[in-house]
Amino acid sequence: MDFGEARRIRVAAGSCAICGREADRQDHSHELKLPRDRLCHQCNVGLGFFRDDPRLLQEAARYVVFHRRLAASMTRHARDMAAKPVPERLAAAMAWAIEQE
Ligand SMILES: [Zn+2]
Repeated sequence: MDFGEARRIRVAAGSCAICGREADRQDHSHELKLPRDRLCHQCNVGLGFFRDDPRLLQEAARYVVFHRRLAASMTRHARDMAAKPVPERLAAAMAWAIEQE
């Protein structure tokens, strides 16, 4: 489902046009001085914090995805290391330390 269709469903239900939670704010464009859709407080404030700039909002989304993947990778690595016998963990740590020199 594309954003336009998802938005229409959320707006028709009286929900936040972005996240679908309860809408309690009327959003408007500061630039054009026109009303937009109803949003929840968090989404409305979020747009303001990102200066209503699509480029910044997309970069913020990429930032969050990047760090989620990094954390998942670190968690997998830690789990893999914890599953190894202690001598193998020590050998891996020594190899890593030598690489850093
Ligand atoms: Zn919302």
